[in-house]
Amino acid sequence: MPLPTLKDRFAALIAAPSVSCTQPDLDQSNRPVIDLLAGWLDELGFRCEIQAVAPGKSNLIATYGQGPGGLVLAGHTDTVPFDDALWRSDPLRLREADGRWYGLGSCDMKGFFALVIEAVGELLDRPFRQPLLILATCDEESSMAGARALAQAGRPLGRAAVIGEPTGLRPVRLHKGVMMERIDILGQSGHSSDPSLGHSAMEAMHDAIGELLALRAQWQRDYRNPQFGVPQPTLNLGCIHGGDNPNRICGQCALEFDLRPLPGMDPEPLRAAIRDKLRPVAERHRVRIDYNPLFASLPPFEQSADCELVRLAERLTGHRAEAVAFGTEAPYLQQLGCETLVLGPGDIACAHQPDEHLELARIEPSVRLLRRLIEHYCLEPWTG
Ligand SMILES: [Zn+2]
Repeated sequence: MPLPTLKDRFAALIAAPSVSCTQPDLDQSNRPVIDLLAGWLDELGFRCEIQAVAPGKSNLIATYGQGPGGLVLAGHTDTVPFDDALWRSDPLRLREADGRWYGLGSCDMKGFFALVIEAVGELLDRPFRQPLLILATCDEESSMAGARALAQAGRPLGRAAVIGEPTGLRPVRLHKGVMMERIDILGQSGHSSDPSLGHSAMEAMHDAIGELLALRAQWQRDYRNPQFGVPQPTLNLGCIHGGDNPNRICGQCALEFDLRPLPGMDPEPLRAAIRDKLRPVAERHRVRIDYNPLFASLPPFEQSADCELVRLAERLTGHRAEAVAFGTEAPYLQQLGCETLVLGPGDIACAHQPDEHLELARIEPSVRLLRRLIEHYCLEPWTG
């Protein structure tokens, strides 16, 4: 059975709903997208393996050729939730207008898979010396559970991996990590007229926040990377909830904050430093302080500037590899031994937005670039 055309594949991927969200009522299975991709890739002669990650959630690992080394072309199958009313047309129906293809996931990033299949198509009658893997993950937009499951399985994937997240066809070799954390303070409520009747959780939180801001200042003195638009690590106090009435000693207070470490800053030591500062606050105020991550942290990512993949991608695109402000699955693929780079056709500015789209002018250069990468890693002799 012949494969659908590029445009029909693009449309079919967009029409297959695959929202992932930390709010359970918005969360959907990604299986429709996995099944479409597996169907097409199976037709092309790939061996398709579906890795179950959670109920309704799977990764697809599709392999052509065999042996060590090879190239991984990777992306996520899920999208963020969308607000129908703000779109000019149905987000799940491909619309061509203004030299663009509009649709949910066109840019970030189901559309990438349609282009990968386009690039692969005409190379398959040539002998593959090293394998090509097409990797499609679940839940990148919510928990990164798909990439995490792959990293935990620990099976080597290839010697280089390119993640087609929207970078406007510029190679990206650095991003910050993302940590989202919560502090819960449990004190003792009582009548406000007599402070000895309670232990104020809010006053303890006031001290805890002081410690966090002091740590932030210290980290911003100690770490700096001028390749980033915001060159220091950041810590944002996002929300706080506590107490109920002016005449009650505050019994409970909770704070959620976000911490974005630079490459070279490991999440665990940062947590240990925070814990060390909170312990004396708890003792001083005679309250209980629980400190936990809201989600498993995303580590920061850095691929060395002088590795084969970065140099090749810089030569093919004509752009120096740079840093971006958003997180990706790159650290997990790197953990599996791949030189890893983020490089894809969309523009991040229209991702996670109504009227998300891909510029048609990007299609041809993207397909050409993907073909060159496949030729280099899979068809030409491995001299490294
Ligand atoms: Zn994405």
